[in-house]
Amino acid sequence: MSGATLLKESGPKEVFCGLTSIVWLHRRMPDAFFLVVGSRTCAHLIQSAAGVMIFAEPRFGTAILEERDLAGLADAHDELNRVVKNLLARRPEIKTLFLVGSCPSEVIKIDLSRVAENLNIELKGQVTVLNYSGSGIETTFTQGEDGALKALIPLMPKSDQKKLLLVGTLANAVEDRLVSIFNRLGIDNVESFPPRQSTELPSIGPETKVLLTQPYLTDTARELKNKGAEIIEAPFPLGVTGSTLWIQAAANSFGIDKSIVDSILNPLISRAKKALEPHVEKLSGKKLFLLPESQLEIPLARFLSNECGMEIVEIGTPYLNRDLMKAEIDLLPPNCRIVEGQHVEKQLDRVRDSSPDLVVCGMGLANPLEAEGISTKWSIEMVFSPIHGIDQASDLAELFSRPLRRHEILNPTKTLTSN
Ligand code: SF4
Repeated sequence: MSGATLLKESGPKEVFCGLTSIVWLHRRMPDAFFLVVGSRTCAHLIQSAAGVMIFAEPRFGTAILEERDLAGLADAHDELNRVVKNLLARRPEIKTLFLVGSCPSEVIKIDLSRVAENLNIELKGQVTVLNYSGSGIETTFTQGEDGALKALIPLMPKSDQKKLLLVGTLANAVEDRLVSIFNRLGIDNVESFPPRQSTELPSIGPETKVLLTQPYLTDTARELKNKGAEIIEAPFPLGVTGSTLWIQAAANSFGIDKSIVDSILNPLISRAKKALEPHVEKLSGKKLFLLPESQLEIPLARFLSNECGMEIVEIGTPYLNRDLMKAEIDLLPPNCRIVEGQHVEKQLDRVRDSSPDLVVCGMGLANPLEAEGISTKWSIEMVFSPIHGIDQASDLAELFSRPLRRHEILNPTKTLTSN
């Protein structure tokens, strides 16, 4: 590993819970439904995060636990069974139903795996019912995707076919571009997990080579490995360098000649570097502090420091999987400070002491920091924006240069003085 300093911190946290990932998962698999078993707070969170119009037929909902459920006065399992059956009668197009646990369902110990098991027996394959936890007690927001994918793995058929499996949700347009690059390299059998339909799960076996598109899929990667797949070690496809090394790692694993890889990637790299220039001009030399939330913090810091010239003050990450993150940490500049976990008060003190130009953080911390005159970028935007791949590097950089530009426009005098 590089000379990065790895520290741990624990204390009060300020992060979104795993329910948030339903927002991008329900778009990815339109034949699936996500039923949160939770409180009105959970319902508000998911509705406001997804911004659903009231006349739309959403593909997620909340089975609200009332006070009598929480007080143990009703059999919540029976209630839930009733809600699920009503839902399936009204929405026959649902092919996969995810029961998503929350803080309240965990506190009163509703056994969602038992509910799912019983419903699968009753429904006899008409709908597949799965469960995972999105509870804020144990997950941060991207871990919801990890839980949902892990729940799907037992349904994946076995296969001995040699294939490349891209794992982690990508925007469809980005996925198409990446698959087309792999096809041009000569890797024809490329599939994605999660697929675009929950019923079209890719098969898996010893000849499956997994290339992770997202860094927060620890449990999913472990389960895929248990199924015999090989995890290709690579940095993540953020920025020109990360995306190039990511594609090269897959090409190496399939024995593709370096000259073929270079001939396809070099024109993309030159174009992407040119598009990055105006953003590098804005970002270079600026101080960046990343607070923990999405688990994308380390790849983002690597991109923003190595390709955009930003000075990294601290990289916070809710969890650090040293194996999956090794290739990323090796690329970080020496003496980077990585802090796993969070004590939000102490971390905010360090933010204020270091006077960064930009802080990447959750929405709950962004407004107070902005009020103190510190520019911020919501980390949640990274999972809703198409940022993966060589072509997307300038769009990724723009997400960080835009708040600096806005800050300059809003604070012209301060900018002139500080410049
Ligand atoms: S799961 Fe927990 S943290 Fe998430 S919205 Fe519900 S109560 Fe809040």
